[in-house]
Amino acid sequence: MPNNNTEIRLKPGREKSLKLRNFWVFSGAIAQPPQEADKPAAAVNVVSDRGEFLAVAGYSPKSQISAKVWSFLQEKINRAFFRRKIAAAYQLRQSAMIPQCASAYRLVAAEGDALPGIIIDLYNDFLVIQLLSAPADMMKDEIVGALLDLFPDIKGIYERSDADVRRKEGLPMRQGVIYGENPPPEIIISEYEWRLAADVVHGHKTGFYFDQRLNRKTAAMFAKDRTVLNLFSYTGGFAAAAATAQAAFVENVDSSAPALETARRNMNLNQIPEAKFRNTRADVFELMRQYEKDKKFFDMIILDPPKLVDSKYHLIKGCRAYKELAMRAFKLLNPGGIIFTFSCSGLVSQELFTKITFDAALDSGRDAVILRRLAQDADHPIALNHPESSYLKGLMVAVNNS
Ligand code: SAH
Repeated sequence: MPNNNTEIRLKPGREKSLKLRNFWVFSGAIAQPPQEADKPAAAVNVVSDRGEFLAVAGYSPKSQISAKVWSFLQEKINRAFFRRKIAAAYQLRQSAMIPQCASAYRLVAAEGDALPGIIIDLYNDFLVIQLLSAPADMMKDEIVGALLDLFPDIKGIYERSDADVRRKEGLPMRQGVIYGENPPPEIIISEYEWRLAADVVHGHKTGFYFDQRLNRKTAAMFAKDRTVLNLFSYTGGFAAAAATAQAAFVENVDSSAPALETARRNMNLNQIPEAKFRNTRADVFELMRQYEKDKKFFDMIILDPPKLVDSKYHLIKGCRAYKELAMRAFKLLNPGGIIFTFSCSGLVSQELFTKITFDAALDSGRDAVILRRLAQDADHPIALNHPESSYLKGLMVAVNNS
């Protein structure tokens, strides 16, 4: 049950970040934890060293980020609170025209929607929720109740609380139906001019990467008559977008056989003839080396690797990998070719990523220009008071013909 009885007292001067509306309280800022310091709490008051109220936050003793703010107002964190917040998130998607472009989207993006630890995705008439922190987990009934208030016609709510970060919170992995029907093995969602099959039970994350939607559209705008190499394709979202926009040929490359099976299904769903695509199961790094030897060239290359930097400790290694990928992509590009290169590592800034891409161009001996800077689509809002919510960055880079 949510409890509001205890409080967290901060060290002198440590209230500053909360006054700037930052959501996170690190363990080092805390002078006095709640009474039961080793137990998570759904909601406690955070006060300054002088006892001034600062925020209501969830307390998570196992995490380095000991508390995450629910509200900067002195209010109860209950079903009505979540109803209000989720309704606001829904309104934001309406303002950003997301439902007009897609039948599936991220409805709640954690801190991006001022709801730390909570991810909620809509797949047509199913909701998939992912609870990533101990306090969010304790609030499950209130969150689900709020969803049922707001979406009474929903066919089912499915839980995909099986992300690794739960371990850091001391939480078990959990997956299954919370309400209504079992989701079907494939949900066919639509995005712009293409359709895609998503498997919310077995797929990555909650089944699909919505954050790349607008970038798929951008790639599609330039894909006509080009040969496209879609690296780290997962279920071939970029390929479906490019092929629907009359790319000459698309090749999906991924190491996962089930992802490529779905990629085939997605090509068929969009009536792409067999002669226009190939799915290759391979390690991207090895395949790029092979294609360089074979002198295989492409007019457009998509590089969308998984998160290569997941901690500061892996920053240098991860940046080297981003650079190697971009360098090899430059080498496989026909004159006038375009690369769409991405990093979903929050620790790699747009500035750093630009520098990596520049170094890669230099080392591959290509002159290149940035045509567009790319980011996560608008259903993953970036909270101005939480710059960490800006994680996906990309560059559309063209190689000079001269
Ligand atoms: N571009 C995709 C999302 C990519 S997710 C989309 O728009 O939906 C990253 C993908 O990279 C995963 O499918 C994973 O299986 C694949 N992957 C990770 N390491 C790989 C490697 N070394 N070689 C090939 N594929 C890899």
